[in-house]
Amino acid sequence: MQHFPIFLDLRHRRVLVVGGGEVAARKAEPLRRCGADVRMAPRFNAADLSGCVLAVGADAPEADLQALSLAARSAGIPVNVVDRPELCSFIMPALVERDPITVAVSSSGTAPVLARLVRARIEALLPPALGRLATLADRFKDALRSSIPNIAHRRRVLERLLDGRAADLVFAGREDAAAALFAAAIDSADADVPPPGIVYLVGAGPGARDLLTLRAQRLLGEADVIVHDRLVSSEVLDMARRDAERIHVGKRRAEHCLPQAEINALLVRLGQEGRRVVRLKGGDPFIFGRGGEEMEALQAAGVAVEVVPGITAALACAAQAGIPLTHRDAASVLTMVTGHTKDGRLDLDFAALARAGGTLAVYMGIVSLPQLCHGLLAHGMAPDTAAILIEHGGTSEQRSLRATLDQLAAQASAWSGGGPTLVLIGAVAGRGLEARRGLALDPLGPQAPNPIA
Ligand code: SAH
Repeated sequence: MQHFPIFLDLRHRRVLVVGGGEVAARKAEPLRRCGADVRMAPRFNAADLSGCVLAVGADAPEADLQALSLAARSAGIPVNVVDRPELCSFIMPALVERDPITVAVSSSGTAPVLARLVRARIEALLPPALGRLATLADRFKDALRSSIPNIAHRRRVLERLLDGRAADLVFAGREDAAAALFAAAIDSADADVPPPGIVYLVGAGPGARDLLTLRAQRLLGEADVIVHDRLVSSEVLDMARRDAERIHVGKRRAEHCLPQAEINALLVRLGQEGRRVVRLKGGDPFIFGRGGEEMEALQAAGVAVEVVPGITAALACAAQAGIPLTHRDAASVLTMVTGHTKDGRLDLDFAALARAGGTLAVYMGIVSLPQLCHGLLAHGMAPDTAAILIEHGGTSEQRSLRATLDQLAAQASAWSGGGPTLVLIGAVAGRGLEARRGLALDPLGPQAPNPIA
C-alpha cells in the first residue's frame, strides 16, 4: 500500500482551493459537504494558506500550482493538485457516498480511470439506502448495548438485523417497520429465537443478467433457497449465492412440473422453516406470473412476503425491437392480456380490445393466435393493423416476425421456434429500426442484444 487511507473531520476547518474554473468548483463541492470552510482563490497567494488544514490546486496557472504545492508541503499542509501526482502529498479518492457510509477508492495515482471504474462497480453493489441503515443502527446503538451487554452476542444480533430483514425493509423504504424489528430484537434478546423466514417474489426480467434489478441481484446473493421456473435463465441463476439450495418448479406451456397449489405450499413450508427464500419468476411476478396467488397463500399462512418487480416481457421485447409501446402520434393506451385459454376458449372482450386502439400486448398468445386474430378482426380491428411476434425477447436469441393482423396467424406457425413469444398489435408494431429500413414484413432472424445501440 503506497498511500494510507484516512477519513478527515473537516467540519469548520479551513481548506484552500486554488483555481478559478469548473474543476476547482467540482473539487470544492464535496469538501463543503463535509462542513469544511472552503476558501476559493483563482490565483495562489501564500497568505491564503494560513490557518488551512488542507490545500487543493485545480485550474490555476502552472506557476501558482507549483508555488502552492511547495508552500503547502513546507508548512506541513496536505496538498493535492489535480492530475499532477508529482505536486501532491495526498490523493483525492473516487467516492461512493451512502452517507454516513463512504467508500473511497484510489489506484495510488497509477490509473485514476480504473479507480473510477472500480467505484462504478461498488456503486452498483451498494443499495442506495445503505446510509439510512447505518443511521438506523446508530439510533439503536445505546439501547442494544445496554440490553445485550455481551459483545459477541450483540454482534450476532446486529449482523442478523443489518444483513437480513431489517436491511431489506430499509432498502424498500420501510424504515418504521425496520425500526420495529430493531426494537423487537432488543426486547427478545435473551430468547435468542431464530430469525423468521421470508419469501421474496422476485422478477427475474427477460433473462439477461444485466436486466435484473439491483435489489433482485442483492437478494439472490443472500438467499438460502431459490425457487424458480423454466422462464428464468441460467445466466440469472448464476447470480445466486453458490451454496443456496435450488428448487426447479417447472412451468412450461402444457407441461406444468408442479401444480400451482403445490408451489404455494412449498413456499409456505420454506418460509415457516425460517429460510430466506427467493421465488424467482420470469419478467415481473405480478404480470401473468401468478405472483398474486403465491403472495396471498403466504399472507394467509402468516409468512412474511415481499415483492420485487422485474422487467416484464412486453417492455423487454419492445425495447429491443425498437418499438415504443406508447407514442404521442400512434398509441396512447397499452393493454396487456393473456392468450391463455379456458377449455380451449379465449376469454377476451374482443369488442373492447378492438375499440381501445393503442397497443395490445398478448402474453401466452402463440397457441391461441388464430382465435385472437379472428376475434379482433370480427370486432372491427382493421386487417392491415401492424403486428409483430417476438420470441426470446430481451435476450441474445431474440427473433421476430412482422405481419399485418390478417396475415399474422397464417405466418406464425411456420415461424415459431417454440420459445416464449409475445404478440404486439397496433400502429407502433409497424415502427422500430427494421421497419424504417423497409424490412417491415420480413422475419428478422436472430439479432444482436441491442440493435438500437
Ligand atoms: N411474468 C412474465 C410473464 C409470464 S407468462 C413477465 O412479466 O414477463 C409467460 C409468457 O410471457 C410467455 O408465454 C410469453 O408470452 C411471455 N414471455 C415471457 N418471457 C418472454 C420473452 N423473453 N420473450 C417473449 N415473450 C416472453
